[in-house]
Amino acid sequence: FVGYYDGEFVELGARSVPIEERGHQFGDGVYEVVRVYGGRPFLLDWHLERMENSLKAIAIENPFDREGWIQLIGEAIRRSGEAEATVYWQVTRGIAPRNHVFPSAKSVVSLTVRPLAVSGSSAHEAHTAVGEPGPAQTADTAPQASLPPLIALPDERWANAYVKSINLLPNVIAKEIAHRYHAQEAMLVKNGSITECSGSNVWFVRGGELWTAPTNRFILPGITRRFVRQLAKDAGVPVHEEALHLDELQDVEEVFVTSTTQEIQLIGSIVTPVDKETALYNLPADLPSSLVSIGETLKTL
Ligand code: PMP
Repeated sequence: FVGYYDGEFVELGARSVPIEERGHQFGDGVYEVVRVYGGRPFLLDWHLERMENSLKAIAIENPFDREGWIQLIGEAIRRSGEAEATVYWQVTRGIAPRNHVFPSAKSVVSLTVRPLAVSGSSAHEAHTAVGEPGPAQTADTAPQASLPPLIALPDERWANAYVKSINLLPNVIAKEIAHRYHAQEAMLVKNGSITECSGSNVWFVRGGELWTAPTNRFILPGITRRFVRQLAKDAGVPVHEEALHLDELQDVEEVFVTSTTQEIQLIGSIVTPVDKETALYNLPADLPSSLVSIGETLKTL
């Protein structure tokens, strides 16, 4: 593992973050995750562009120019010696006595390079999914049965989800619920419309055309989403940037989620907890043996 904190490469665990670092006191920062394939960061320019937008949105000074970032990330990958990895980095508003008001501190960068166990060959070239393992669902002979479900949950995040903020509490809780229900992801629903997932964007196929939520302040503009949109355009497949309502799932033929780490992951069904209110706050102690027993299946594909 390679780590970097505030100007120095460090062994992970060898360096402590100062107590008054605003990243951990306020969650006052932004982050990015880039996938490394064959030793090279994939779509790095797009990630850097999004980070610049996130920093600008919350008025954190960007400590490097584009070339500086490319150098730093390249050096970190080189030091790691890894070919298949993820690079995580965050930029926080720096170290200063605790006070909500912005300090005149310089921003601080932390970064890690973590190796990734990859099954199969170069997934991004084949555009196939190698996401997290499927759910512990009981046997069904249809091939779709092995595809993981999504669980529909309320989108409780703030109204600036386009900022890739390190404040991830609503995402963490939603993903934990998804995990306990053996779902791939929590599919977030705002006023009945599907925004995105707790850590990915969600796509629907209807009549051979693609639907995904519009690029606005309520979703993170995923880099993988942007890549898939371009692939679709190149292939002449229409993409509708329109949020689908939960009631519009009947005629959906396929669902998939996209993210840097999950890549393109096909989904087998969409379920919602029977008790939408308590599901959020009374997390089940015991894992349910099957999703059907805990939820209403909105759509099985
Ligand atoms: N939405 C959310 C809320 C996410 O956290 C992520 C991944 N960080 C995504 C979408 C997908 O973005 P990307 O394709 O850039 O990884």
